[in-house]
Amino acid sequence: MRVKNHVMTGLRCRFACALGLVLAVTAFATLPAIGAEEKKGPALVLITNVDVWDGTSDAVQKGVDVLVEGNKIKTVAKGIKADGATVIDGKGGTVTPGLIDMHQHLTLNGGTAAGNNWDAYVQGAHASRAAEYLLRSGFTTIRDIAGNTIGLKKAINEGILPGPRMYVSGPALGPTGGHSDWSPRTAGPGEKDYQQKVQNTHVVDGRAEWLKAARWNLRNGADFLKVMAGGGVASEFDPLHLQSPSPEEMAAAVQAAKEYGTYVAIHAYTDDAYLKSLKAGVRSFEHGFLTTEKSIKPLAQAGAWWSFQPYGGYKLLCGAYPDWYTEGMKKKGKMVCEGVKNTIKTMKKYKVKTFNGSDMFGWDNWHNALVNAASPTTDLPDDLKYTSLESMKMSTSAPGQFLRENVNQNRNDFIDAKLGVVEKGAWADILIWNGDPTKDISLILKESNLKLVMKDGKVYKNLLVDPKHESFRAAPAPAGHSFTM
Ligand SMILES: [Zn+2]
Repeated sequence: MRVKNHVMTGLRCRFACALGLVLAVTAFATLPAIGAEEKKGPALVLITNVDVWDGTSDAVQKGVDVLVEGNKIKTVAKGIKADGATVIDGKGGTVTPGLIDMHQHLTLNGGTAAGNNWDAYVQGAHASRAAEYLLRSGFTTIRDIAGNTIGLKKAINEGILPGPRMYVSGPALGPTGGHSDWSPRTAGPGEKDYQQKVQNTHVVDGRAEWLKAARWNLRNGADFLKVMAGGGVASEFDPLHLQSPSPEEMAAAVQAAKEYGTYVAIHAYTDDAYLKSLKAGVRSFEHGFLTTEKSIKPLAQAGAWWSFQPYGGYKLLCGAYPDWYTEGMKKKGKMVCEGVKNTIKTMKKYKVKTFNGSDMFGWDNWHNALVNAASPTTDLPDDLKYTSLESMKMSTSAPGQFLRENVNQNRNDFIDAKLGVVEKGAWADILIWNGDPTKDISLILKESNLKLVMKDGKVYKNLLVDPKHESFRAAPAPAGHSFTM
């Protein structure tokens, strides 16, 4: 066995892939060389000297090894022998599945009102840096829910840019005056604002326009649809209790999603909006911080999922608002803060299936994705707190299950293996922590506690070796702007 802390990294893969292309071209006339390469099979990586939390169990397994073959987990067992494997000494750390953030907006830099000074290229450049930052912070999968990230997802999938696996909605659909209509007061009816022009949102009215916009998103590669089903806090003209879109418009979005084998996720706060969307066949319910038993009980009965934003929904709206919030936004934020405690209590009472998403946007906020993952345990009042184990499940196996069950095999880019778990056959999306985050999730907030990030079998962060070692990959600290982690 070759014992060496030396694994292929994402960055090195880019060189290797380029080299591979050259070799493949050169080897076209020399078939035996290709045959020899094939015989070697996919690379084996053996992770030793670790405890393993599999994403679903209540306890870690002590002293268990993990064998990765190519981009999948081959075995999780004690004392694995694997000839020819590259060995990673986990130094007594805890292996967990990579984190999943179910509510990101990589292209909404600087909030909904911002961006008018940028073109889509600069916005995309910012988004790609955010993607790399999140990956190296431990998020191996994210769901980008409102924004033009369809191209970024493709670039990451093709190995052109480093970033998490992405499920993307494309532009969010909403009616005139709804939460995706961020035009200034002076805009005429139907006049497109910046966010519509760069395809972060669609403002559409009537069944025909909704169908067209929804099908356009799906045709371009959206994995699911995002619908603004009621008013929001971080926008100027939409009251929280807004009754549009109409039931017919909601039904059009759900119909288009079903045509492609996928689902609709909604932004909404109220019982009325939740009930209308549930009736239309929506599966993923974001925010909901003014909902009560009236809609939460039917949500539980239907087996639909609550997408919880503990940091943005509780800590932020019950605390200090971003500096770009207007007086109107602050007023709506206060209303939400008054409802959120009852909502959390009732969601728990009815055991609504729940996953976690941060709803972060803007350059100072990417690191808050980690704050958000810990937030159900670290930020909520004592009577509403989730345990560290529950919080970890909400950011790993729970979203993994949702993503597997709600996008069918014809539409789901990552259906070949499980996400959010460490088990035989799952994607090799693996973190190694200093300590056990299922016992104390607050340890994820200290950057140096995350020792290794592996996504798809490739290593993007590695503090397990000496900084001089060729496999060392430092903490995420991109140059420029205000990364303050
Ligand atoms: Zn959002």
